[in-house]
Amino acid sequence: MDLPHTMTECADPAVDQTVMKVVLAQPRGFCAGVERAIEIVERALAKFGPPIYVRHEIVHNRHVVEDLRSRGAVFVDEISEVPDGAITVFSAHGVARKVQQSAANRALPVTDATCPLVAKVHSEGRRYAGQGREIVLIGHAGHAEVEGTIGQIDGRVYLVQTVEDVASLQVSDPDKLAYITQTTLSVDDTRGIIAALVERFPGIVGPDVRDICYATQNRQEAVRHLAEQVDVILVVGSRNSSNSNRLCEIGAELGRPSYLIDDASHLDPSWFKGIRAVGVTAGASAPEVLVKGVIDGLRKFGAIEIDTLAGTPEDVRFKLPTEVSDA
Ligand code: SF4
Repeated sequence: MDLPHTMTECADPAVDQTVMKVVLAQPRGFCAGVERAIEIVERALAKFGPPIYVRHEIVHNRHVVEDLRSRGAVFVDEISEVPDGAITVFSAHGVARKVQQSAANRALPVTDATCPLVAKVHSEGRRYAGQGREIVLIGHAGHAEVEGTIGQIDGRVYLVQTVEDVASLQVSDPDKLAYITQTTLSVDDTRGIIAALVERFPGIVGPDVRDICYATQNRQEAVRHLAEQVDVILVVGSRNSSNSNRLCEIGAELGRPSYLIDDASHLDPSWFKGIRAVGVTAGASAPEVLVKGVIDGLRKFGAIEIDTLAGTPEDVRFKLPTEVSDA
């Protein structure tokens, strides 16, 4: 079992345990891109029957993946693992063109669950490349979305992860540069990296932090509000979930011990000793049922009051691909 991701040391044990309150961040949990991706697999299972082959984890959440697997989804790393003719789904993170090409070469029936906001970054990158610019992608090395985005752009793409990376970046022509970003970054860190890029390459163009998606931005803002109200923060999400990790980091940066947990089984009573308020949020790929489980777990540790903070309302919904929209 994964150990919970501890971002800082535990809270001050000198505070007397009185009544522990649970404060829920709003918004939290599923975004429109994750809901759409899961619905695509569910509808494909209903329409075509199992097995449905999914390239890469459909979204970065262990529980979601295990649930879909139990219903007949088969998760693979490479298209070569998909049998001829099998129904195939690309994950919400997007794929490189060569993956699309190898599926097309084999005439696999593909439904693409790439989040439309990730697809928008792809087309932005291609547009900049079409203007003869080299691309700087701000993102995390090895993340599925980053690999997909790099693989969607013809021409040179430089990956930068930090301000230090910007300092050592060597490009062909500093006047022919553009930047794009992964959708699930820290808004503050990304602003710092963009400022460093603009300082070093004044001619660079890009979308500022607008490509960090609405769900990422709203959840980060909500965890900032949460940190003002609580002593400890729990982020429900899996360790490979980029946006969940950012929420945990923000909580820790604001001085609150913050823990990334897959579910209630990761709760550790020592975190709540002397604590008056515990905040709970969830990454964009974490189902609300896991949050409910965590609240139930906290009740066992003495939580008796549950509050939900006001937050930015979300009503985003993306259209389903035609292959499954009538399923
Ligand atoms: S986190 Fe944002 S970009 Fe990623 S799937 Fe959700 S809405 Fe799309």
